[in-house]
Amino acid sequence: MRLAVIGHPIAHSLSPMLHSAWLEAAGLFGCYTALDVEPGRLDTVIRRLRDGELDGLNVTIPHKEAIIPYLDRLEESASRAGAVNTVYRIGNELIGANTDGTGFVKSLERTGHVSKDILIIGAGGAARGIISALKTKVTVANRTYEHALRLAAEFDCEALPLDAVDLKSFDTIINTTPVGMSPNTLQSPLVLDGATALVCDIIYRPTPTLLLKEAARLGLPTLDGVGMFVGQAAEAFTRFTGNTPDFAYGEQVIRKQLEEQ
Ligand code: NAP
Repeated sequence: MRLAVIGHPIAHSLSPMLHSAWLEAAGLFGCYTALDVEPGRLDTVIRRLRDGELDGLNVTIPHKEAIIPYLDRLEESASRAGAVNTVYRIGNELIGANTDGTGFVKSLERTGHVSKDILIIGAGGAARGIISALKTKVTVANRTYEHALRLAAEFDCEALPLDAVDLKSFDTIINTTPVGMSPNTLQSPLVLDGATALVCDIIYRPTPTLLLKEAARLGLPTLDGVGMFVGQAAEAFTRFTGNTPDFAYGEQVIRKQLEEQ
């Protein structure tokens, strides 16, 4: 297996460490590297896939949408999300999948929490992937209200301006904005006034974020972004290799690495 993650920048990606650990644990001979691909330079990496020099790819910013025209087919996960984070090959066909949304949904399911009314903060690519994978009632609140409205119209859900949200109405709150992400760790996307919900943050650098620290201080249950990261990778690994990797082992590898950073 010759696998890679492409993005720009890509040097700090944890994907090579995680996939390499799973390849080794499964006794599979292979390597997984990080390739810095500048915007507009996807043709070279696609040629390497078609020539059999690479067997599969994970795709991150800024290529998740730009790679679509180069592929032969999209899974429903990718066409619904309008973005691809995994490319794998069957025969001569290059297939695009999006495992971000299902990665998050599975990490949410793993908590055992039953979600009936979900509030999503943010209306970007990650929010789109998660909404497209959720089967539950969703409300989207975003800094730019028009972006929330656009997403709500597309996925038949509710939209609210960020300052009009009543947190009491939701049993699950998910931050999908980058607010609070390293190096801006002293920022939080919202004040948890009146919240009684499970508070999720898809950020994993740092973990916990200020939002999750505040939730824990208020006695609320929390879910960080590590589960989503490991979950999306696990689903990609299965597409690449046919193997189901050990989620708990992957989570342990990533948490240890994050602690050491
Ligand atoms: P994106 O497409 O750029 O969307 C960002 C969203 O956040 C937009 O809705 C934007 O609002 C909002 N936003 C940005 N800055 C804000 C601020 N200062 N105040 C309020 N809202 C703000 O980004 P993305 O691809 O969705 O990624 C978002 C986050 O998810 C990143 O932190 C990324 O690391 C994380 N992520 C985690 C995983 C994982 O595996 N755990 C996977 C994917 C992404 P506007 O519409 O107003 O611009």
